[in-house]
Amino acid sequence: REESCSKIEDAIQNIDFKGNFADCNMYGNGHINDTFVVRYTQEDGSILRYILQRINHEVFKDPVGLMENVAGVTEFLRNKILENNGNADGETINLIKTKDGKNFYQDSIESYWRGYRFIEDAACYDKVEKPDDFYQSALAFGHFQNQLSDYPAETLHETIKDFHNTPDRFMRFKKALEEDILGRAKNIQEEIRFVLDREQDTHILMDLYKKGEMPLRVTHNDTKLNNIMIDNKTGKAICVIDLDTVMSGFAVNDFGDSIRFGASTGAEDEKDLSKVNFDLGLYELYTKGFLEGCNGSLTDVELDMLPVGAKIMTLECGIRFLTDYLQGDTYFKIHREGHNLDRCRTQFKLVSDMEKQWDAMYEIVNKYR
Ligand code: ATP
Ligand code: MG
Ligand code: MG
Repeated sequence: REESCSKIEDAIQNIDFKGNFADCNMYGNGHINDTFVVRYTQEDGSILRYILQRINHEVFKDPVGLMENVAGVTEFLRNKILENNGNADGETINLIKTKDGKNFYQDSIESYWRGYRFIEDAACYDKVEKPDDFYQSALAFGHFQNQLSDYPAETLHETIKDFHNTPDRFMRFKKALEEDILGRAKNIQEEIRFVLDREQDTHILMDLYKKGEMPLRVTHNDTKLNNIMIDNKTGKAICVIDLDTVMSGFAVNDFGDSIRFGASTGAEDEKDLSKVNFDLGLYELYTKGFLEGCNGSLTDVELDMLPVGAKIMTLECGIRFLTDYLQGDTYFKIHREGHNLDRCRTQFKLVSDMEKQWDAMYEIVNKYR
């Protein structure tokens, strides 16, 4: 890690941070990129902070496309805020260009660096401490959707191919099942049946899209709590950060993924399934916040499909864990025998719970739409 950051001084030199460089330190709890805070002294003696990040391009194979996405979306958001209230501070993540006007700096060892304005007096939380945190994230991601509702989503690069192409995930599962390279299939017939019985479900959203009934939106694709900044004083969400996985997709999938991990009472890899339940109260809280944030920007079809988004994102995630288990645990890191199988089981437990509460899930959407 240190070696890969040996070009940090070059990056600092090249990005257009204002003032006199004071110092630079590692920062935050991100798991993907290397994040630093850099401090600059201003003429009046005050200190201005910036975020400097080295993009993890082991994970992101197309850093140039990724940065075009980030630049496009952040500029659009800033303009939108300027239009609406003439003040761009703090309410969106602001990219700092390089001194020669580029969106990122590429050093001589092929690392990619970018700068952001530091959002002050705010914090990111790793864990939901109280229900209001979850509600705040719903508001923020809904608002993000609303602000970007007129963004030309089709111009975004597909930086991770077929990320939420659920029919494709299903096909890949079937292929792994046919190959069954480790002979594991015979012991997991119940899980396999669970997926096969739901083949129809995996197509619902894609079919609507093909019929022109499901719009392509700007989606965030990493809608967890610690990707929003919360105001230290008011406890309210300020804005969404971490736009690495921004791509075109379905709004209901962003919603669905938040529900998948946020409305479960248990950990993703909990072995005791009696502890893993779909919490309808948390689902309601998120739905309320998300729809308030969206403020009317979703179509009727999208609103109708919110419960489907929740179910499909959960099913898709379970399918991915099961596929990886069949293929010998090559994609998701495992920390114990059968870890991916345990993970798949929690997801399928949640899917079953949702199916049992299907009508209630619709009623909740109808209450807030
Ligand atoms: P993840 O593990 O969520 O994918 P990551 O490695 O992609 O994380 P980020 O989420 O972009 O990294 O940033 C890491 C942390 O740095 C954030 O959790 C937040 O605490 C802080 N951070 C990022 N951008 C800003 C900003 N503009 N202002 C203030 N803090 C920021
Ligand atoms: Mg993050
Ligand atoms: Mg990230």
